[in-house]
Amino acid sequence: MDNCLFCKIINKQIPAAIEYETDDLLAFNDISPQAPVHILIIPKQHFNTPAELNNSYVEIAGKITAAAAEIAAKKQLNSYRLVMNCNEDAGQSVFHVHMHLLGGRKMNWPPG
Ligand code: AMP
Ligand code: ZN
Repeated sequence: MDNCLFCKIINKQIPAAIEYETDDLLAFNDISPQAPVHILIIPKQHFNTPAELNNSYVEIAGKITAAAAEIAAKKQLNSYRLVMNCNEDAGQSVFHVHMHLLGGRKMNWPPG
């Protein structure tokens, strides 16, 4: 999609530190890491928010969580947090669906 930051990363128009790539997904390091490991897992297909990942898209949603588990194992993370922010009030700032994989430090709950 034009003018989407993460589509530009997928198309290699903007650089990113890529950790994982398949035909459907890309995962790269967050530019502003909030934990020792902070990786964003994104579908190559553009969706604005997680709310669009409805019953028609269970396969891609499942692939995202499976990728998170695989990357966490590769990073030898036993404890980690997966976050998908949906819309502004939840903290979404980039409107291309992404899952945050955070780990390597103790996490607080509830989140702010
Ligand atoms: P969210 O606030 O949930 O939409 O998350 C967006 C994330 O994208 C934030 O954690 C940002 O630090 C991250 N981000 C923004 N621009 C880039 C970029 N060019 N490369 C990697 N991560 C980015
Ligand atoms: Zn996009």
